[in-house]
Amino acid sequence: MNRVFNFSAGPSMLPLPVLEKAAAELVCYGESGMSVMEMSHRSPDYEAIIADAEAMLRRLMNIPDNYKVLFLQGGASTQFAAVPMNLIKRTGKADYAVSGQFSGKAFKEAQKLGYDVKCIATTKDDNFDHVPVITKDMIRPDAAYLHICFNNTIYGTKYPYIPDTGDIPLVADMSSCIISEPVDVTKFGVIYAGAQKNMAPAGLTLVIVREDLLDTAEENMPTMLEWKTMAENGSMYNTPPCYAIYMAKLVYEWILGLGGLDEMKKLNEKKAAYLYDYLDNQDYYIAPVKKESRSMMNVTFVTGDADLDKKFAKEAGAAGLKNLKGHRSVGGMRASIYNAMPYDGVVALVDFMKKFAAENPKA
Ligand SMILES: *Cc1c(COP(=O)(O)O)cnc(C)c1O
Repeated sequence: MNRVFNFSAGPSMLPLPVLEKAAAELVCYGESGMSVMEMSHRSPDYEAIIADAEAMLRRLMNIPDNYKVLFLQGGASTQFAAVPMNLIKRTGKADYAVSGQFSGKAFKEAQKLGYDVKCIATTKDDNFDHVPVITKDMIRPDAAYLHICFNNTIYGTKYPYIPDTGDIPLVADMSSCIISEPVDVTKFGVIYAGAQKNMAPAGLTLVIVREDLLDTAEENMPTMLEWKTMAENGSMYNTPPCYAIYMAKLVYEWILGLGGLDEMKKLNEKKAAYLYDYLDNQDYYIAPVKKESRSMMNVTFVTGDADLDKKFAKEAGAAGLKNLKGHRSVGGMRASIYNAMPYDGVVALVDFMKKFAAENPKA
């Protein structure tokens, strides 16, 4: 069977060369005589895999030495609780910007835990069709951190700038844009991401945290959520998500081989530009996101007719363009065009969009 173009928002496409390398090594990894899935995480072979994964990610993202890289489990959603538990004690309060569903969940989770958290900016009244403008004076001067979601997977928006928070640590959920382009890590106190959008299969959660932020955790918090414990144990306080980390390593290696994140960004820009240019030069589909907030990874559009939207997703699927249905909470269509989506996939999508528009005139 042929592989399809899979526009799923997550879990999503992985680069074909990565899957092929994993397949070749699946049963016997190197000279070990066993699969990576069967290895002790304390074995020399595995120690080398996780060390390589970290070293490659540090090279790829240019992560300074005073930041720890943690390979954890639990998904980005677990970090919604871990972030306040690890950081809020510094001052007892924290601020949030709510730019979509996931940042809203992060905010609610901190509230649920009983913390003094404040939503300082939201674009909810505009159906999250853009990201908020955040300036330093909006943040409480004694906030322990400001939390943002850098790329909003469901709505297809992204911050076109990094908010200036002064000395207040900026914490960013980068689940759906991590390693899609270079980012200045020094502008952030914490970056976290579920791996299953743009990095690896599900099961791995990445946390990049500045060292001075490791000493502020709640005393009685669950050990598994404590970044400091994980950092001191090289992400091996318990069994890490071994195979997903191995896959992430192959993905990092693949991007380094392409020329790193500068090159990755060029490829991603080319794909996104092709799709947005088409959207901007026709009047059948509507792209609801304000131009300055457009995501390079998740592109949302609608026909304006829910039945046509449904027909679109169904017929596109039959034509080998899978998972174009928008998130269940917003409807319409969403094309997730992460690193692994080839340019040809986007060209095929635009061709299909033209054909569909011609065959399905609106009333
Ligand atoms: C998918 C996603 C999440 C949720 O991730 P899980 O790993 O499923 O918990 C959180 N934030 C963003 C931005 C996402 O795209």
